[in-house]
Amino acid sequence: MSWLAILAALAIISKSKGKSSNNPYAYSNMPSACICHECGYRVESPDKHCPQLGACPKCGAPRLWREK
Ligand SMILES: [Zn+2]
Repeated sequence: MSWLAILAALAIISKSKGKSSNNPYAYSNMPSACICHECGYRVESPDKHCPQLGACPKCGAPRLWREK
């Protein structure tokens, strides 16, 4: 029955591979800073991707953007 476990593991691996290649973010590494295009509010070295930071805490713009 152990081959079933192997097949299940392979299925999980191929699933997670497909997920990572289908990255919803343009960049896979963390941004050095996220910036609000509306008011210029800046987040240095965020621990999340800019869209995950949510709305700008200063002006309420819907999202922050990776600083280029
Ligand atoms: Zn703002």
